[in-house]
Amino acid sequence: MRSRKALEGFEPYEWETPSADIAARLGLAVEQIIRFDTNTSPDVPIRWLRDLSSKLDEIGINDYPDTSYLSLRKALSKYVNIPVDWITVTDGADEGLDLLVKTFMDVSSKAVVSAPTYSYYRTIAQTAGGDIVSVPRLKDFSDDIEGLLKAAKREDTRIVFLCSPNNPTGNSSKREDVIQLLEETDVAIVVDEAYSEFSGKTLVDLTNRYDNLIILRTFSKAFALAGARVGYTVASKPTIDLINKVRPPNSLSVVSLALAELAANDLETVKRNIKAAVQERDRCRKFIEQLKGIHVYPSETNFLLLSFEKLDPDKVHKELMKKGLIVRNVSKTKGLEKCLRFSVRLPEQDDLLLTALSEITKNS
Ligand code: PMP
Repeated sequence: MRSRKALEGFEPYEWETPSADIAARLGLAVEQIIRFDTNTSPDVPIRWLRDLSSKLDEIGINDYPDTSYLSLRKALSKYVNIPVDWITVTDGADEGLDLLVKTFMDVSSKAVVSAPTYSYYRTIAQTAGGDIVSVPRLKDFSDDIEGLLKAAKREDTRIVFLCSPNNPTGNSSKREDVIQLLEETDVAIVVDEAYSEFSGKTLVDLTNRYDNLIILRTFSKAFALAGARVGYTVASKPTIDLINKVRPPNSLSVVSLALAELAANDLETVKRNIKAAVQERDRCRKFIEQLKGIHVYPSETNFLLLSFEKLDPDKVHKELMKKGLIVRNVSKTKGLEKCLRFSVRLPEQDDLLLTALSEITKNS
C-alpha cells in the first residue's frame, strides 16, 4: 500500500492531549485539570442547549440537513451585514481552510504565511501537495508587508493566509496592509478572523470591493460553541461559488446547525461573553505586568502570550501542569523560543494561574 507522495516527511498537526490522559499522567482527578490551552470559552451556553432540547421535534435528525444551510446563512447575513449568497457554512473554520486549499492550490504551489501563526495553515497546504512560504513577522509581531508582497507575487503562490488577530501573537493585521496586498496581487488573500470579535475589528466590509478577499469565521470562540464545530466563510458571490464547488454536501449535523442558529439569533449573550473575556484578559495582563521576569504582549484576543526573560518556558509549563493548569507551550516555534500562551477563563480559574505564575517568578 502506498500513501500519497505529499505525506512523505509530512508533520501532522499537534493535537491537544485529552484532559483524562493528562490527569492520569499527573495522578490528578480530571476535574482538577483546567484547560488554558484551547482558546475556547469557559462558559457552557446552557440556555441554547435548553432551547434546543425544547424543540427536538423540529430537528429532523432522520434526514440530511438542507445542504445549503440557508437558515443559518440568513442569520449570519444579518450578523455580518453581508448578502446570504456571499456566505458558505463549514464544519468549523478548519474545514473552511481545507476547502480553500482544495479550491486554490495545485501540487507544488505555495501558500504564504506571516510567521509565527496558526500552524494548521502549513498542515493543510501540505495535504494539498503544496507548501508554505513563511515571512517572519517584525519584532513587534506586525506583518512584514514588503516581505509578504514579494512572496505573494511569486509565480507559484496561490494563497496568503493572514490570521487577524493572530494566533498566537494576539495582534491584528493593519487594514491598509491588507488593502495593499489585495490591490497589488491577484492571489487569494485569506483573513482568518477566528478571534475578531474580541478585537472589535473586521475586514468583512472589504469583500464588497475585492473578489480575492476571503474571510474565515468561527462559532468556536466568541460564540462558545467549539464542540458544535461550525464555521463560515465570507467572500464575494463569484468567489463563494468557486469554493462551493469543492464543499461536501453534508458535513454539518442538523444539531450543530440548530445550535449555531440559536446563537446567531442571541447576540446579547454573545456580547456578554466577549465583554467578560476582554475584561478578564485585561485584568490578567495588568497583573502579569507587575511580575518580574515576564513580558506580556498586548492582545486583541481571548488569550495572552507571555515571554520569560530568564526562566525556561519548558520548566514553567511543567510546573503549571503539575498543578493541573494546562497552558500552551509554544516555545518550539521559531520566534517564540521564550514563550507560553494561555487563554483566559473564569476569574476564579485565572486567579489560580496568576497565583502560580506569581510564585514561580518569586522563587526564580
Ligand atoms: N483559526 C484559528 C486562528 C484558530 O486558532 C482556530 C482554532 N484554534 C481555528 C481557525 C479553527 O477553528 P474551528 O474550531 O472553527 O475549526
